Order: sequence, then C-alpha cells, then structure tokens
Amino acid sequence: MRTINRIFINGEFVQPQGKDEQILINPSTKEVIGKVILGNEEDTRTAIAAAKMAFKTFSQTTIAERGEILQRLHDSVLARMDTLVEANINEYGAPRKMAIGRVKLAANIFLDAKEALENFEFVRYMASAKVVKEPIGVIGIITPWNASYSQITTKLAVAIAAGCTVVIKPSELSAIQTDEIVEAFHQAGVPKGIINIVNGLGNTVGVELTRHQDVAMINFTGSTRVGKEIRRGAVDTMKRVTLELGGKSPIIVLDDVDFEKAIPVAVNQVLTNNGQACIAGSRLLVPEHRLEEVKRIAKRTMEAVKVGMPSDEATTLGPIVTKKQYKNVQHYIQIGIEEGADLITGGVGHPEGLEGGYFVKPTLFANVTEDMTIAKEEIFGPVQAILTYKTEEEAIEMANNTPYGLAAYIHSGNLEKANNLARKINSGTVLINGAFHELKAPFGGYKESGIGREYGEYGIEECLETKTITGYQKTY
Ligand code: NAD
Repeated sequence: MRTINRIFINGEFVQPQGKDEQILINPSTKEVIGKVILGNEEDTRTAIAAAKMAFKTFSQTTIAERGEILQRLHDSVLARMDTLVEANINEYGAPRKMAIGRVKLAANIFLDAKEALENFEFVRYMASAKVVKEPIGVIGIITPWNASYSQITTKLAVAIAAGCTVVIKPSELSAIQTDEIVEAFHQAGVPKGIINIVNGLGNTVGVELTRHQDVAMINFTGSTRVGKEIRRGAVDTMKRVTLELGGKSPIIVLDDVDFEKAIPVAVNQVLTNNGQACIAGSRLLVPEHRLEEVKRIAKRTMEAVKVGMPSDEATTLGPIVTKKQYKNVQHYIQIGIEEGADLITGGVGHPEGLEGGYFVKPTLFANVTEDMTIAKEEIFGPVQAILTYKTEEEAIEMANNTPYGLAAYIHSGNLEKANNLARKINSGTVLINGAFHELKAPFGGYKESGIGREYGEYGIEECLETKTITGYQKTY
C-alpha cells in the first residue's frame, strides 16, 4: 500500500494543500495498491507561478542547452526502466512486454524532439521582414490514464524544445506511474520551475489550469467531451488549445489483399494497449461477398488472443483499467447484442478463470450496421465491429461517416490504390498494411478528434508564437 502525498513544484517535491484522496486499484486483482492525496486550485496557482518565473530565463536558452536537457530526460527515464515497467503493470495492467515498449517509447520521444529542435527554423526572412518563432509561455498539460508515460513525455518534450515551461495535470488514475516518471524528471536535474506537476481532479486542477490568465496554452489528451469543455473554458483568456481526442477508427480491407495475412493484422488493430487506444481500429469494413471468409479468420484470430495476468509472459491482453471502464465496455457489448448484431466470439462477462480482475472477453460482432451504437460510439475496449460494403466508394463513405477522424487503416495488395484511398479518408493519420504511426511525423485528429498536431517539428510549432519584425535592417 503506497501513499503518494507529494507534488512537484519549482524543482522540489512538496505536500499538496489539497486534502482529498483517490484510491488506486490494481485492475488485474482489484486490490487496493495505494492512494494519492490530490492537489487543489491553490497548488495549481503555486505551480503556475513557478512556471511563469522560470519562463523568464528558460525562454532565452539556446537550442544546444534545451537539447542537452532533452537528452538528460531521455537517459533518466531509461535508467528507471524497471520501476516504470512495474508501475505500468500494477496500476494499468499492461502485459510486461507492452510495458517495456511503453517506457522505451516514452524515453525516445525526448530524442525525437531533440532532433526536431536541432533542425527547426526559428528565424526566417521574408522580403523586408524577419519572422521569428518565440516560445508561447506557460503550457498546461492535461493527460489521460491510458498511456500515462508517453502522453506526458510527448507534450513535455515539445514544450521544452520550444523553450516553454509547464504545469502537468496527469490523470488521477495514474498517480503511481506519474510519481515514478516525475522522479525520473527530478533525477535528470532539470533547472527548477521548468517542469511542475500537480496531481488532482479535472474539475479542480484541470479547470484552474484552463482558466488561469498566466497559462498561454493547454495541451490536452482525453475524451472529446472534456476536450470541448476545455476549449470553452479557454475562451476568456484566448488560450491556444491543442486537443487530442477520441476516435472510431475504420479499417478498410480491400478485395485484392491476401485475407489470411491482412485479417489477423486488422483484428489486432483493435487490441492495442489492452483495447484502450484512441486509435483503436474498432470498425472493420470488408467486401460483402467475402464476409464468411472474414468471419472465419477474424474469429480464429480473436480466440487466439491470450488474455491474462500481465505478469504472465504469454499474456497479450491485460485487463480494463477500472471498474467504471469495465462496466462501460460490458454495457456496449450488451447493447451490441440487443441491437441485433451477430456475436461471433466473446460477449459479456469475464473470460473463464479471470473473475478476479477487470478482464474482458475479446469480442467480435458481425452484421453490424452503421446505425448501431457499437458502430458509432467509442467503446475503449477489445471489441470490434465488422461491417460490409459493396463498392470501394461505399467503403470510403462508411469510413468517413463519423464525427471522429483520428486514425484509419487500409489493407490492400495494390499500393497505388491504397495510397489513393488514403487521400480520400478524413483522418489525421492513415496506416497502410499494418504499418505503425511514424513518431517523427505529426499526429492528430480531423473533425471532433481534435485540434493541432503532436510530435517533432509540428509539435514544437504548436508551442510557439510568430513575430514579424519589419525594418530589421532599416536605418535613418
Ligand atoms: P478524460 O477526458 O476523462 O480525462 C482526461 C484528463 O482530463 C484527465 O486528466 C482528467 O482528470 C482531465 N479532466 C477531466 N475533466 C476536466 C475538465 N473539466 N477540465 C480539465 N481537465 C479535465 O479521458 P480519459 O478517460 O482519461 O481517457 C480516455 C479518452 O482519451 C478516450 O476518449 C481516448 O480516445 C482519449 N485519448 C485520445 C488520444 C489521442 O491522442 N487522440 C490518446 C489517448 C486517449
């Protein structure tokens, strides 16, 4: 049982002024593993003041100085690999292999940002003007529970590259993981006040950050519902907002691809991160005349998934993060059945022998129509809906028939066709034939999946203001 009673302000761990608590539970066992004392609005204001003060000098640092800080952060996160992996297993339920991948990813993001920083054009000349890019100011970073490490490092890395200071409000459900990664930031010896972290709830710490005059920008990842609240809350101070929100990502499987190869990959595209990924491929669109073949391969693939305890080497799918989320996923599976979709495998309840945790049966529905709830709403669990199309035009229409536009997947034997199709889908990222997103390239959403882009050069750009100085060579 661990009690986290510290937040990180101005380079030091201090006790929060807030008194409320949040219990932390291991989702694989439902055991209480700790509690976090939550910070409040006053803590948030103290952290903002520290970040504002540090901005005065940090905004004037050189590219080399900031690159060196990014390098140290990378090294320090990797040096705490074992502790970070354990926290990700115990608090999130990540299978070990996935947890190791997560920590490496979180660390590497600092190096990608360093590389992008070294190539970034901060000054450009346009006729009689000099155009300079300047750090925007204090950035409020608000993150979800589903990829705690990389969500934090993605936003932190570009802010530092740009010369901004930050106040981070991590998810209250990831307090142990946060505490471990903050320890890594502390060990990295970053000058005080640049990184500040306040544990707390959305409606206290999150709202204070969103409304505060001295915060120039909010960089948020989370649900579309909260993203909209943040955008509204940021209006009065005219803050910039970068929002990475939900998705209902389509997977288009074309007739010309080898189904024995493509369908297993497509099914796995909904299982990323224990099925709790914003980019989860939750709608599988297949040619109508090949439905039976798809069902057979997809069922076999889903049934081969190893759901189990994260500590077990063979496990590929761990539990759902909390009781609330577990119930939510169960509810969607139930609705799928009630609305008349064909349950191919999985269903409500726990997989056999795994009643002790929030484990869900990997679930596949066929004969899903576009008006069904499971075809429209983000489920955030290992549940995939198979829909059929008659023509490729219809497949494109179906792919785009959603308020979301985060990721889309294409499987085709013809690369030219796949690339043409990619241009017709309203989505911030398109992944062809099982490719993973390139983390040096921008990531973000169309439509209600968000505003702005993360990673590398595009991520740095979000944290900068543009100033035009005309007459920079003019004399009297
Ligand atoms: P959430 O929206 O409930 O919470 C996200 C964060 O916002 C948390 O830290 C929470 O405390 C805070 N928050 C809540 N209310 C707030 C308010 N009124 N003002 C300010 N902050 C507030 O999301 P979640 O349940 O933690 O995460 C799951 C969601 O995140 C899913 O919808 C998923 O698609 C999305 N997500 C998106 C991406 C992406 O890159 N697009 C990545 C991961 C997750």
